[in-house]
Amino acid sequence: MKIETLFMDSHLKLSEESCYIVDKIGVKPEYVTDSRIVYEHVNSAEDPILKGKQTLYITENHGAVIKKCPGTSHYTCCDYTILHTGTFCTMDCSYCILQAYFHPPVLQYFVGQDKIFSALDSIFEQNKMFRIGTGEFTDSLIWEKMSNQPANLVKKFAQQKMFKQNKSIQNFSILELKTKTVNIDSLKDIDHNRKTIVAWSLNTPAIIKSEERNTASLSARLKAAKKCEQWGYRLAFHFDPLVMYDGCESDYKDVIKSLFENISPDNIAWISLGTFRFMPSLKQIIEKRFPNSKIPYGEFITGLDNKMRYFKPLRIALYQKLVSFIREYDSNVFIYFCMEDKEVWEKTIGYFPAMEGELGKMLDQTLLK
Ligand code: SF4
Repeated sequence: MKIETLFMDSHLKLSEESCYIVDKIGVKPEYVTDSRIVYEHVNSAEDPILKGKQTLYITENHGAVIKKCPGTSHYTCCDYTILHTGTFCTMDCSYCILQAYFHPPVLQYFVGQDKIFSALDSIFEQNKMFRIGTGEFTDSLIWEKMSNQPANLVKKFAQQKMFKQNKSIQNFSILELKTKTVNIDSLKDIDHNRKTIVAWSLNTPAIIKSEERNTASLSARLKAAKKCEQWGYRLAFHFDPLVMYDGCESDYKDVIKSLFENISPDNIAWISLGTFRFMPSLKQIIEKRFPNSKIPYGEFITGLDNKMRYFKPLRIALYQKLVSFIREYDSNVFIYFCMEDKEVWEKTIGYFPAMEGELGKMLDQTLLK
């Protein structure tokens, strides 16, 4: 999706970073002294969400650069850490929670890589493992076409100080770049030191076509993943959201077949599974913006986190299938669930990481192999 309007915070000092973005976007920036001007521009559109995807605001992050993922006490959490580098997305998925999360939703790029790097330095100095991602409030690699920030983050993680606990085990932090794009060119030829995981969200071609506007096709995502594997990166894959529809099981089976035809399980750090869930307020947005979408209609119940989820026996049945499809290709690749409970874990993969922090530790362990 093309950026039509570019706003720049007038308080920013012109920097190499901001000039680089302006040059790449090729739109004359409008300088604003107050972010409300940007919000009004977006809110006055007939579809503010779409407008927010076409309007880029280059500004500073005035809040925390690094945050612990809030998770929820009701479902098992993976102890993720969020690196807050920007907001919103140029792609347009019907189920995207960000549509309902930001008021209004605006594409923001936070300049100031020095601030990000000094926050990371304080993380790297701790003798602890952190899994850190930029893909919670945005897609990690939409920015790769307009900024050298993703590539610089890869270099920063590669150069971190390592802590040895004994002869073979080390503590380190890992960067996860989550995407539905194929924007990987600047990741080539970086001495990444295996401290970055490039991760793709995968779905069936039917769901990509009907629900994930402007994203890369499944085959393009897998082709990009294969290139990253050839460049020595670790990879991860997220089947989230899994969407139920007639024939979905066989379609997901085909996706898993394509995944393992392209990628060696040895280079997959983890695969996560999560069925479609949504805040009730998202339903109206989907109905209005994606009138042909069928995803908000199904056998849903309200979960403990007040999100609508598929009825639990249906979730368990689909997860069991997905796990068995993956296990046909590899018996070791680490599979985990995003925001699921004890019963789901036990009935699908036979164990439950019950203790606080246990799932996070298991994920960390996969990185030490
Ligand atoms: S790619 Fe991710 S962040 Fe972008 S619209 Fe889709 S769900 Fe939202």
